[in-house]
Amino acid sequence: MSARDKIREFFERNVGKIITTHEISQVAGIRDYQRRIRELRNDEGMQIKTHIDRHDLKPGQYVLETLQRIPVIGRGISPQLRTEILERNGFTCQLCGAGPGDLDPFNPNRKMRLNIDHIVPVSQGGSEDRENLRVLCSACNHGRSNIQTPSETALNILARIRRSPRSVQREIYEALKRSLGG
Ligand SMILES: [Zn+2]
Repeated sequence: MSARDKIREFFERNVGKIITTHEISQVAGIRDYQRRIRELRNDEGMQIKTHIDRHDLKPGQYVLETLQRIPVIGRGISPQLRTEILERNGFTCQLCGAGPGDLDPFNPNRKMRLNIDHIVPVSQGGSEDRENLRVLCSACNHGRSNIQTPSETALNILARIRRSPRSVQREIYEALKRSLGG
């Protein structure tokens, strides 16, 4: 039985109960259990919640809310299509404007990742067509959007800047800093 199997079984035996990292590491017998939990969430669609999802949980606590699995999103998207959508959206979250490496506003120890989101979910018949795909940051992807939604104009400009070479981004940053007194 792999560590992942052990952790899955442990969660499924304790649906709705708070499970601690200590318990998980004991059950799994490994230190790198966090990657396994991510796999259970992302690859298998298990509804394991953390303190990021639920404010009644402390860091290091997990709850499997139900045995029901969420249909896994993004599995059918090829790496090429993923890159194409990322470039089209300028590496910018289409809801909050976050970019790769921005700090997660709900967890400053973590950096945001960019995901490919289905505008109409696969579970509701959404397709893998380009028009149904967009970039979302990990926070918005989990239904926690940012404090303020940027305007359409700001989103487009941010996307253009993020498509530009690093040196140009730096120039724009310096120019804005001069004019806005940052
Ligand atoms: Zn976002």
